[in-house]
Amino acid sequence: MTFSFQLQAEDAATGARAGRFGTPHGEVLTPAFMPVGTQGTVKSLSPEELAAAGCDILLCNTYHLMLRPGAGTVRRLGGLHRFMGWPGTILTDSGGFQVMSLNELNRVREEGVEFRSHLDGSRHMLSPEEAIRVQDDLGTDIAMSFDHLVRLPAPPDEVREAVDRTVRWARRGLEERTRLRDQGRGGMALFGINQGGTTAAERARCFAGLAEMPFDGFALGGLWVGEGRTLGLEMIERDCAEFPRDKPRYLMGVGHPVDVVEAIARGVDMMDCVLPTRNARRGTVFIGTGRLVVRNAAYAHDERPLDPECDCATCRKYTRAYLRHLFISGELLGMRLASVHAVHHMISLVRRARAAVLEGRFAAFRSGFLDKFASRETLAAAAS
Ligand SMILES: [Zn+2]
Repeated sequence: MTFSFQLQAEDAATGARAGRFGTPHGEVLTPAFMPVGTQGTVKSLSPEELAAAGCDILLCNTYHLMLRPGAGTVRRLGGLHRFMGWPGTILTDSGGFQVMSLNELNRVREEGVEFRSHLDGSRHMLSPEEAIRVQDDLGTDIAMSFDHLVRLPAPPDEVREAVDRTVRWARRGLEERTRLRDQGRGGMALFGINQGGTTAAERARCFAGLAEMPFDGFALGGLWVGEGRTLGLEMIERDCAEFPRDKPRYLMGVGHPVDVVEAIARGVDMMDCVLPTRNARRGTVFIGTGRLVVRNAAYAHDERPLDPECDCATCRKYTRAYLRHLFISGELLGMRLASVHAVHHMISLVRRARAAVLEGRFAAFRSGFLDKFASRETLAAAAS
């Protein structure tokens, strides 16, 4: 199976692109926003609700699923799609980020990373090869290369070492996929991840190594970890200028609507983030005119939907007053309804950006979106 990305349009005034790619589980339109299903579920939402929100691709976390229920279990149960009842495309991360961020006691060696499970303290080892095998066991459509990321700020020699290791590990991951393919497995696409933190020269050096390898797409790693929007966007622009035109570009861990639109404007095709759904469960949602805190007393008698311009299942039916009541009362339905809106809102945002690129009006779309988002217009309580 060959993975192929079709670039459909490029905006003349910015770096924005529209494209699509097919996987054994359907077509994915880009720019794409991927909701995050950490434990094989986008918290509180059913696959039917995700599909109704327009979702065609999900991200699932290798680290969590390999520890519980275990990749072998998922494989025996027919793979992740069947296990979780999701018929669409799945991208899995490599597990590297969680191994580094959820484990204070991890040990990075050339062979891989030794870590203790955050669930029961048991010892595990994740190597570039194992990360590929686990993702294949899960039955993912798109796998990610196992990379070495460093906690920033880090001394230059540490960043340099992580870049060199990331390139070596990337090659080992590709070789493992080739071995799997020789056994009739490993049909998944595989993306390489560029590292180097916020040091432009290191990112360039990392990509010089990765560019020679036959990856199906490339990810921008190690960004949005506290470096600030200006510097982050600068690195995105840098990476996208170098990445090949004919392969998808995936920015990891970015989900604020403004960041999403700015990343698209610089040539990013795919993004994922827990932010919109995590915020929603805590009672904060993004709407077209800014960020709305649902439990705010100002909405106690507000009969408008969360977002008057949204056509999601929640906004078509429920008022702010009701949603506020649910959150104040600690009712589960509040989290679910807010999550339905949150996923729909992000996917509809990238779909509108895509339509704007295809119609040659992305620059106007972007400035219109930014003005409106900053306006906070419908956030004020309705006059009673
Ligand atoms: Zn809505």
